[in-house]
Amino acid sequence: METKATCPYCGVGCGVLIEHDGARITGVRGDPEHPANFGRLCTKGSTLHFTARPETRLLHPELRATKGEARRRVGWDEALDTAAQRFAEVIKEHGSDAVAFYISGQLLTEDYYVFNKLMKGLIGSNNVDTNSRLCMSSAVAAYKQTLGADAPPCSYEDFAETDCLLVAGGNPSYAHPIAFRRIEDAKAARPDMKLIVVDPRRTDTAATADLHLPILPGTDIWLFNAMLNVLLWEGLVDTAFIREHTEGFDALREHVREITPAVAAEVCGVKADDIRTAARWWGEAPRAMSLWCQGLNQSTHGTHNGAALIALSLATGKIGKPGCGPFSMTGQPNAMGGREVGGLANLLSAHRDLSNPEHRAEVARLWGVPDVPEKPGLTAVELFDAMHEGRIKALWIACTNPAQSLPELERVREALARCDFVVLQEAYGNTETAPFADLLLPAATWGEKEGTVTNSERRITHVNRAIPAPGEARADWDIVCDFARRLGPLIGKPEAARMFGYAGPEAIFAEHAQTTRGRDLDITGLSYAVLDGKGPQQWPFPEGASEGRARLYADGRFPTADGKARFVVPTAKLTAERADARYPLRLTTGRLRDQWHGMSRTGKVARLYNHVDEARIELNADDMHLRGLEDGDLVRVKSRRGEIVLRAAASNEIRSGQAFVAMHWGANALNSAGINALTLREFDPYSKQPELKHATVQVEKA
Ligand code: SF4
Repeated sequence: METKATCPYCGVGCGVLIEHDGARITGVRGDPEHPANFGRLCTKGSTLHFTARPETRLLHPELRATKGEARRRVGWDEALDTAAQRFAEVIKEHGSDAVAFYISGQLLTEDYYVFNKLMKGLIGSNNVDTNSRLCMSSAVAAYKQTLGADAPPCSYEDFAETDCLLVAGGNPSYAHPIAFRRIEDAKAARPDMKLIVVDPRRTDTAATADLHLPILPGTDIWLFNAMLNVLLWEGLVDTAFIREHTEGFDALREHVREITPAVAAEVCGVKADDIRTAARWWGEAPRAMSLWCQGLNQSTHGTHNGAALIALSLATGKIGKPGCGPFSMTGQPNAMGGREVGGLANLLSAHRDLSNPEHRAEVARLWGVPDVPEKPGLTAVELFDAMHEGRIKALWIACTNPAQSLPELERVREALARCDFVVLQEAYGNTETAPFADLLLPAATWGEKEGTVTNSERRITHVNRAIPAPGEARADWDIVCDFARRLGPLIGKPEAARMFGYAGPEAIFAEHAQTTRGRDLDITGLSYAVLDGKGPQQWPFPEGASEGRARLYADGRFPTADGKARFVVPTAKLTAERADARYPLRLTTGRLRDQWHGMSRTGKVARLYNHVDEARIELNADDMHLRGLEDGDLVRVKSRRGEIVLRAAASNEIRSGQAFVAMHWGANALNSAGINALTLREFDPYSKQPELKHATVQVEKA
């Protein structure tokens, strides 16, 4: 038998057909009908079936009464009654803001929706944030500041139409391989198409580029501003578009006046002529688009990185047309769905804003509750800081591994150890976070649950259940709703039974769709039946529509008060940490081709270690020689926050003074602290996204 679903890894959102016998998953292949991939899968997607092994799974709830003791197996009733009791005690004694949910861009939209409704609608706090904060919240803030809404305007099909693609802060050949196949196809079909890659490393993506700009980490804004300087100087901006469809250009023009290619070349460490070439290719191309990812987002100025890149599209009027526009890719399969239901501490359902009283009233009406709290919730880093200080006393984590993925891990671990009651809802029981859980709840995972996901091009897919979950594992939405119904009466809110009495995920999706009516992402025309009948669809898809919209802003109107997009004058900051004599190397982080995130799933597939079989720090040969290092030597890598030991590898992808470690290697893989023992928790002031991409380190032989 075959069941339609999507790959649960990256934000490309490839369709898969799960092969199974009704009890066990036996294989997987790409769904030839899915518009994201038309049957193609990368190494990670094509080995998914090897991850579906019950012996690697958490099968039963486990609970401990005190921190020091081992957890014991309990039934679901005892598990959820205890959780409700402990959360209710904290809420009564310390208030609603003393509890929090930390959830995941890997949850399905329906799961996300009920978590959000439970915290904001029933408990009465906005303390629900997600690991998507680490991934794309800067893109959200950049879109909102410039285009007026968190809506990526492009489609994958634009790769086939563009004449110039500028990839900045991304390595899609590893991170989004099937999207990259489309880029390769476009280049093969139209060799004149220009590919520009901005990346400190000569990645596999950069190696295929017509022009690689190996900028120094954190200098992206200088580069984009200098490109705009050239576009202005050489008359390559679209003055009619700027006049009719934008605001704020005069201030930005003034700002970039002095940022010439020569000035930027000095800051960015690239040739001025290469900056001019990139600007000319962009400006002279009939159709140009950008693609960006965590290299821009994971920065203390991630929002302005995105805004400066988006300015190139606006200044040249290359947006809302085939092959044009700014396009951010998400790292996780359903970061987009989370954004749609308002699953971040500063958002509300259907792209509404917490700071807008009308929006809060609308959501309260839709949920049938008196109000939604105004005070913004704690974002990921703030949340763990608050827990460290004792202000968060009960935390519920779902489908994520903060003891591997958050920056400054030592502090995160201390925070988890100090929290009175930690619930972990997970498919796998051996993650780095599991030892901190007072209550472990077994969750269903890929192939075992139904719902929807939205990929990076706004395309919603109905994901189906192929087999029952193993042991006593349950779907995430089901666990949350059961908990909510038990918690409600204990905190004087018997309406929980009505609010969380869903018959199944389809009812949750129908409610979510109604919250989008009249919004930029209106999907009132979608249902599971429509998605099954028509296949995956891009939003918006309002009631009465026959198809979704491939491209936004084709009419030149933007979702701002006056319909005009905004230019933002960026703060031209550099990285939060600067190299010095003690910490002379600039460490950047990124992805491997065959691993995904914290390796909870890919780390269980032996063949995925064929590409890179163990953790290593990549260094330039000169830096290796200077330290007397040989390829394969064990080295101690120290930052101001922690240290790890791993092997050194000489790399010609990297220039002297820099280093690279893949983001995947956690404590389980390294048998010591993970890579994020080194990273820092400084974050962007608008998006609150931490600078996971960069830290300064010293390296010595271990
Ligand atoms: Fe999965 Fe992404 Fe690979 Fe597609 S490109 S198969 S979504 S990991």
